[in-house]
Amino acid sequence: MTSVGLGLPSIRSRRGQPRRPPAPGLIDEYGRVARDLRVSITEKCTLRCTYCMPEQGLPPIDSHALLTASEIIRLVDIAVRHLGIREVRFTGGEPLIRRDLEKIIAGCRRLHSQLPLSITTNAIGLDRRAEGLANAGLDRVNISLDTVDRALFTRLTRRDRLPSVLAGIRAARLHGFTPVKVNAVLNADTLATAEDLLQWCLNENVQLRFIEQMPLDADRTWNRTDAVTADDLLGVLRRRFRLAPHGRIDSSAPAEEWTVDGGPARVGIIASVTRAFCGDCDRTRLTAEGTIRPCLFSDTEIDLRSALRAGVSDDELAKSWRDAMWRKQFGHGIDNEGFTPPARSMGAIGG
Ligand code: SAM
Ligand code: SF4
Repeated sequence: MTSVGLGLPSIRSRRGQPRRPPAPGLIDEYGRVARDLRVSITEKCTLRCTYCMPEQGLPPIDSHALLTASEIIRLVDIAVRHLGIREVRFTGGEPLIRRDLEKIIAGCRRLHSQLPLSITTNAIGLDRRAEGLANAGLDRVNISLDTVDRALFTRLTRRDRLPSVLAGIRAARLHGFTPVKVNAVLNADTLATAEDLLQWCLNENVQLRFIEQMPLDADRTWNRTDAVTADDLLGVLRRRFRLAPHGRIDSSAPAEEWTVDGGPARVGIIASVTRAFCGDCDRTRLTAEGTIRPCLFSDTEIDLRSALRAGVSDDELAKSWRDAMWRKQFGHGIDNEGFTPPARSMGAIGG
């Protein structure tokens, strides 16, 4: 058995398993099994983060092309009943833009009472929606916030909405979405404010994870030389905090955790570029237009929407999903000579 250079021995070569086994789950030809489903429900957003969206927003998806709430609920149900999916996260674009998010959550919850359901959100408007989402059966929220410096936030997101995000975070805590997790993507501008962001999260009792920026911005401005790495970040945080390695919480959660000032508080760092974890990837993605996207970085997508609307059975949809995942590529290859970013940017895939 040959292993490939993604730092993880569990990946088999393509020659290892030429044909998909009749396994019920979402296995790929490198032996990875997807159990975590990310569902993008819109391409629209209230912000325009420079590392994600173009200034004018993404090209709008035709309303007929967008999956409806009941189609999303059916596909989630198939993923859970037929394909071994154990948790579902709704994302976008900005999931709170959809007025039927509560309906989607409630529909999934009615069918699967124990299924962990979460959203990734910029939290704008969450103060008004948190109660309804909790009542619908949402378990957790991950909130994206890169800096607590208002001027910098405005420059980075092209919108002056920091107070609204902070109100959303507080509302999430108030309505029992614990732990509230904050995700921060850093660039050369915001790096110097990372210490203030960590201090704010410690004060507010929310868990902070930093994520290395990936070459998934619509403006294609990412470049290797300027990209902030996990090591750059550790250097900055150590100016104010004592950090001790705490290891990884579980193999499919790619954050390296560090205890802060002796604990119990911790901070996570996801080195998605400099310490690739593709070998442990357990994700499958459904785009807002109903295509399966096996890998963030591959342009290969398999259309389920047409089959769904043509009336095919749950069994057939599950088989198409399995076939799609079997061919998942083995890694992002950012470090490879000739790497080209995928055509879709992060906001159009669903991060
Ligand atoms: N709008 C929601 C939000 O911002 O949380 C959900 C969608 S957003 C695309 C999901 C996550 O992807 C956010 O945490 C965001 O910071 C992250 N993201 C966007 N572009 C990224 C990039 N180029 N590299 C790494 N993470 C990125
Ligand atoms: Fe919108 Fe999220 Fe992308 Fe920022 S990261 S532009 S909030 S989708």
